[in-house]
Amino acid sequence: MNVAVVARVDLRQAIVLDAQGNEIACRVRARFMDRAKRLRGALVAGDEVEWDQDEQGTAVVEEILPRRNLFRRRAAGHQTGREQAIAANLDRVLLVASLAEPTLKEGLIDRVSVAAELCEVPFAVALSKTDLGEAGTAERTAKRYRALGYPVHVISAKQGAGVSELYETLRGTRTLVIGHSGVGKSTLLNAFEPSLGLRIGAVNPVTGRGRQTTTAGLLCRLQDGTEIVDTPGFRAFAPCAVAPEDVIVGFPDLARHALHCRFPRCGHKSEPGCGVRPRWPMTGISA
Ligand code: GDP
Ligand code: ZN
Repeated sequence: MNVAVVARVDLRQAIVLDAQGNEIACRVRARFMDRAKRLRGALVAGDEVEWDQDEQGTAVVEEILPRRNLFRRRAAGHQTGREQAIAANLDRVLLVASLAEPTLKEGLIDRVSVAAELCEVPFAVALSKTDLGEAGTAERTAKRYRALGYPVHVISAKQGAGVSELYETLRGTRTLVIGHSGVGKSTLLNAFEPSLGLRIGAVNPVTGRGRQTTTAGLLCRLQDGTEIVDTPGFRAFAPCAVAPEDVIVGFPDLARHALHCRFPRCGHKSEPGCGVRPRWPMTGISA
């Protein structure tokens, strides 16, 4: 049995990387597929698998190894409400958000950070296009998210500012990179390694634009072993639905106060002895 990492998944096959970085196209055992014989999230980029050759010499994924985490979102469009698996076994989710052109959308930073917390994946931000944005905005935003414990990298991919410092923090690890189109994600990935944008762009010219692959992650391993999972075709983003009492897990700065709530299933609304409510900036506004 051979062990490999999933680089990308098509409708019915997976491309996996062996330890030497060779790409191997694998069939996948039917038990991992849905009734329409499609993979649909059973296998995602970053999954570690065991594969073997069958009697015909075809590579087949036999096992999916346990995941240490799984980054997911709530599906948009015709599949609204369903969970969509994006990538597994991540060291972090890096959100690229531009200070200008397009304007900074802090709501997106919040939604992705909440999703990352709920999926137990470390979260980081790259504030891009600092050559266009106001220094004050960059500083204020960086300060706000650093205060929550998240690394914030202030960069200009075009001018090369902050890019190598950011790369040093990613080196040798596996990072999912996500961001609205136009924020400079491709420019940044190309700055990491010039072939990266090309390789990602060249992925699966036939189905690469199809709905099955556009929102799933695509894993690339760079020459030094650093792994980047790209998420092309990304538009809206919403965290997966969770039970009301678990929502707070998405907000670590508030979650630590929940330890002091009198009731274990406190809704942090008007319960007596709530540890969160008095510290909530919006105290007084009904939840
Ligand atoms: P993506 O859609 O997120 O992959 O964005 P691209 O990398 O394609 O960049 C979108 C546009 O922003 C392109 O015209 C880039 O040249 C430009 N761009 C990317 N990074 C920077 C930057 O740091 N500063 C400025 N001024 N423009 C940038
Ligand atoms: Zn409470």
